[in-house]
Formats: sequence, structure tokens, C-alpha cells
Amino acid sequence: MTTTDLQAIPRNITGIIKSVDSDNKMWLEQTKPKLEHPVGYFIRGTELVDHLKSLEGQIVNLTIGPDRIKTDRADDGNFASYWWSIRSEVTEAPPKPDDPTDDPIDDPTPDNQPKNPPQNPPNDPPPNPAALGACHNHAVDFITAGILPLPEGRELVGWVRELRDRFYRDINQAPLMPLHYCYQHDEERRQGKNGGWGHLLPKETEDDEDSYCIEGREGWRVFDAGQ
Ligand SMILES: [Zn+2]
Repeated sequence: MTTTDLQAIPRNITGIIKSVDSDNKMWLEQTKPKLEHPVGYFIRGTELVDHLKSLEGQIVNLTIGPDRIKTDRADDGNFASYWWSIRSEVTEAPPKPDDPTDDPIDDPTPDNQPKNPPQNPPNDPPPNPAALGACHNHAVDFITAGILPLPEGRELVGWVRELRDRFYRDINQAPLMPLHYCYQHDEERRQGKNGGWGHLLPKETEDDEDSYCIEGREGWRVFDAGQ
């Protein structure tokens, strides 16, 4: 069974690196979720071992993933049912021990299972709180401006959350498209002989000549690509 088959999803932990052993095991004074005693994790990957060695004594944010199910346990997604190892150091999120906005549901608890397992799929990276907050604000702005009003039969909080999540996933986390990309037709444009940028439009009838969507002339069918 490979790691990707396991039901448990990767989690983030914070702590101070006490030591990195020669057998690629790291001892961590874990501060989030808080543990009474140092905890040892196997480190996956020699590059990561060297990197974490260089950070001994420092506070780090780490992503851990499940390696295998413990004896006599089921593949049930609960933290305590697996052996975990360190997969990466999460550098973009500095530790915030007293962050009041921290959602306790997201806190992994190594010795006890969380009350509600996180709902994001295994490959979803941890959300960026600042970007999420900005998406929330935009959602509220669009609702109050009447651009994306509350649909009939929906309650406000659910609508705000839906818009926030859609803005975050479809806009904030969307890959950057190349220059001259056509967002209307979701197609890349190519440069013509005269320097303009366009892409071929689907024909309306079989007999139509080739027509193009040219940058700066969106909404028009341009039949001479040389234009
Ligand atoms: Zn287009």
C-alpha cells in the first residue's frame, strides 16, 4: 500500500528542532499542537535531512504525512492510527503561537484524534490565511455592490463562504496565464505576421472561413488573420 492510498491527510506542525540523528530521525520540541515531551519523526528525503540539520535549534513549520498504518489499527484517517514522517518544511507560514484566528479544528492532535477531520482533499495545500481574508472581503464587496447578490432561497453566511472559496480556488490560487491569453474563450493566443495576437474561433457553420478572436477586438469575428 502506498502513502497516497492511505486515508489520513498531511498535517502541519510547529516546533523547535532539538536534533537530527544520523538515522534521519528528527527530535522536535513540538509547540503546535503542544506536546509535553520531545517527539521523533523520520525525515523523508536526504535533501530535507540536510536542510533540517541546518535549522537545528530553530522554530520550524513542518508538513508531516502518513507512512503506514500501525499494527492493530485501521486505515480510518485518525492521527493515532499511523506512523508519520516529515515531508517538507513550510517556510511561507511563520509561527504564530497566539494567533486568535487559528481554527482549532485544523490543529492536529497526535495522541488523540481530531473532533472533525479536515475536509480538504489530500493534495490541497494549507490555505494562506491572508489570501483567504482578502477573498472574504471581496465576496462581501461584490454582494453589497449588487454584482453577486444573495440568490433567492440562500442564506447569507453560506453565500459569502461559497464566494470566498470560489474566489480563493478559482482566482487566487489559479495559475498565472501567459501574456495575451484570451480569458473569454479560455485559449492561448498566437502572434500573427503583423504582430497582433489571436486565436482561431470555432466555425458557426461548415462553410465559414476561418475567423479569429484578436486581442483588443474581443467579441468580434475577424476573418483576415493578417489584420
Ligand atoms: Zn478569444
